[in-house]
Amino acid sequence: MTPKIALEEHFATDETLMDSSGFLPSADWSELKSRLMDIHDQRLRQMDTHGIETMILSLNAPAVQAIADPQKAHDVAQRANDFLAEQITKQPTRFRGFAALPMQDPDMAARELTRCMKDLKFVGALVNGFSQSTQSPAPLYYDLAQYWPFWSVVEQLDAPFYLHPRNPLPSDAQIYSGHPWLMGPTWAFGQETAVHALRLMGSGLFDAHPGLKIIVGHLGEGLPYSMWRIDHRNGWASPTKRYPAKKKIVDYFNAHFYLTTSGNFRTQTLIDAILEIGADRVLFSADWPFENIDHASDWFESASISTADRLKIGRTNAQQLFKLHP
Ligand code: MN
Repeated sequence: MTPKIALEEHFATDETLMDSSGFLPSADWSELKSRLMDIHDQRLRQMDTHGIETMILSLNAPAVQAIADPQKAHDVAQRANDFLAEQITKQPTRFRGFAALPMQDPDMAARELTRCMKDLKFVGALVNGFSQSTQSPAPLYYDLAQYWPFWSVVEQLDAPFYLHPRNPLPSDAQIYSGHPWLMGPTWAFGQETAVHALRLMGSGLFDAHPGLKIIVGHLGEGLPYSMWRIDHRNGWASPTKRYPAKKKIVDYFNAHFYLTTSGNFRTQTLIDAILEIGADRVLFSADWPFENIDHASDWFESASISTADRLKIGRTNAQQLFKLHP
């Protein structure tokens, strides 16, 4: 078995637990709840059984991003980060942490990230898509001008930033009206996250901050499959500058993005991701507890990729990205 590091793996606190209700049938809630609230019992046994040496843990979704009061969002994030740091202390070789961030206020988010990286020794941040805020009638996406000072801090800290999905607000989800089955992991999560990632790429953010590293899950939320078309629409037409960034979108994708296998255990899709972005930028993950670790691991161990790529994707890419030393 390949020794593996997994990095889209969630827990909940009492304050955020109920954000995860409603994604699965009610018959499965008691199991999901016990998985989310557990760190050292079932989770660790599953890791041992399936060769996961380390999990980088993050809070469930949407949690902090859906708390419209910025001060409350800050306080919930800080308590969750402190709780996570305490859990890591009990098993420092098996668990590491991603910071939850109150993105409602870019200054508070930058301060909390700095605290998490420097004092709590976290390895990056995981943010659940756009933020709602009492300060803004529209959802806050992080290409907006007020976030650029925050990104400067992310770059200085060399903190990888995981852009994790959430559902669009009802006011932005008319296309799904009458078709609730399309919400969540089926389609809306990927659509929402892919557009957010493209906003970051087109905004010029990566021209200003060339050191930024963004991680997206689910083998890229559909982006690898569409990358050529994004840059080549109407190839015969006169070139026009359509976005503020300097380069082609694929250049930012290849230089700044990392993809994980979370919740997308499909060899055809993995090979497409490898062909687009390269095996150095794909990392193993399960998406526990929403997906099973055995489903992720059994698939990954038998996927028809090279042994060298399996080792990179399973472990060494994560060791390098997060500076984890065995
Ligand atoms: Mn997830």
